[in-house]
Amino acid sequence: MAVHHPSLDLLQAYSAGNVHQALALAIAAHSSMCSVCRQRLAQLNEIGGTLLENVTPVELSSNSWQALQARLQQPEVLQRQGEKAEPKPEGTHSSLPAPLNKLMPQGLPKKFTRIGWSLRQATLKIMNDGTVIALHHIRAGGKTPRHTHEGQEVTLVLEGSFSDENGLYQPGDFLLVDEHTNHRPTASKNEDCLCFTVQLAPLKLTGPIGKWFNPIIRALQ
Ligand SMILES: [Zn+2]
Repeated sequence: MAVHHPSLDLLQAYSAGNVHQALALAIAAHSSMCSVCRQRLAQLNEIGGTLLENVTPVELSSNSWQALQARLQQPEVLQRQGEKAEPKPEGTHSSLPAPLNKLMPQGLPKKFTRIGWSLRQATLKIMNDGTVIALHHIRAGGKTPRHTHEGQEVTLVLEGSFSDENGLYQPGDFLLVDEHTNHRPTASKNEDCLCFTVQLAPLKLTGPIGKWFNPIIRALQ
């Protein structure tokens, strides 16, 4: 069971539809693995619904209802409402959280690019604003290069585990770091670690190895 969750502020923003699309995907994926957050989101949605009921009605434009219905059909909205995730289509990777299956309909990518002695990355999508959605794989016992961040980065552990200065992260755990975090994740010795990541700004390595890998990371992005 997940120990590290999105903050309540973040869940509130997600419930209100006020987070970046890629961040919303990470929260949806975490929630599909975490009953605690599913329950919190159900409560937040209930509160949001009650607040809406008490708002003074205003006249809506003629296409508002169609726009709302279209929005509610989006998978991440269904997930946010605490409904069960869509059944996984045949052939999808059984260990992937349902919200990630659309990104990886063929299962996990076969090609990862090495960006450190123990670290490999498979870029899944680069959004128009430069946000990078990716998978990171750390070899069992491997250390990633020490790095800081120019913006927010979310990590969701899918398989295995890793630790940094702040704790141990296991499957389902959700970690949000920002430009104040300078850490060196290390995979547990007994198992490779696979993480889903959303980088809302490019990574910048700070250790001596950074000058070698920064250009590679930039090239990947
Ligand atoms: Zn949670």
